[in-house]
Amino acid sequence: MNLKGKIVLITGASAGIGEACAYKFAELGANLILFARREEKLAKIAENIKSKYGVEVLTRTIDVRNNSSVEQVIAELPNIWQDIQVLVNNAGKALGMSKIQEGSLEDWEEMIDTNIKGLLYTSRAVLPGMVSRRTGHVINIGSLAGHEVYPSGNVYCGSKSFVRAVSKGMIIDLNGTGVRVTNVDPGLVETEFSIVRFHGDAEKAKNVYVGYTPLTGDDVADAVIYAATRPAHVQVQEIFITSTDQATATIVNKKM
Ligand code: NAP
Repeated sequence: MNLKGKIVLITGASAGIGEACAYKFAELGANLILFARREEKLAKIAENIKSKYGVEVLTRTIDVRNNSSVEQVIAELPNIWQDIQVLVNNAGKALGMSKIQEGSLEDWEEMIDTNIKGLLYTSRAVLPGMVSRRTGHVINIGSLAGHEVYPSGNVYCGSKSFVRAVSKGMIIDLNGTGVRVTNVDPGLVETEFSIVRFHGDAEKAKNVYVGYTPLTGDDVADAVIYAATRPAHVQVQEIFITSTDQATATIVNKKM
């Protein structure tokens, strides 16, 4: 699949995996629609990408938890930006690590609203266009946490199990429409993820990645690009990718 001149929408493009995907799609000549809440970060990334790759980039400061803004922003895209070929549902997070009986309701709600509802809202707004054009690709960023539950990962793991299940649901319901779906499940990736998870505790976050080589955002973006660039008749349903040092959620070859 040649993505030159095609439109790719990435949610959560202001950091980490989403940002890395933006650069890699731009390198292939795709024009980008980038969503995130931090306007300045998005603007800087858009500027860098435009000057480096000469593609068009549209940014929208948006919270995917808010369905009416998701619907409105997508409905009001300028005409030439309407034909979205690839949607990368990447915006997501873990918040906290607590035993279920001690968890924060606020953290749970934010994870559920972002990882589950945000993905659904964006997909619901974009999919009818893909189906009517009989072409498109939805790439959902799940997690190793969708394959196994680890101690104190309860709600985050539940949200990523949801992503994996709904990806399969999309594959089934979109069968015959020409729209393909890929679920990409990474293990440990060094991004802002752990800083967010530990509510800004940078030292605690850094410790997650000490003593071994974690994945980078670029590694995951490579997997996304692999799926997106297969010929139209090939649907990569799932990619499960970890660092060589990671065997399971809890078995990591840490040298310390
Ligand atoms: P990250 O560096 O924290 O990036 C998360 C992105 O999501 C940011 O651009 C953030 O931008 C955006 N975002 C968060 N809440 C949002 C909201 N309500 N509306 C719109 N955008 C929002 O984390 P990452 O590691 O790249 O995570 C990306 C995805 O990979 C997530 O779904 C995560 O669950 C998954 N994942 C990560 C890992 C890992 O170890 N890092 C492993 C497996 C899966 P703003 O703050 O500007 O909105």
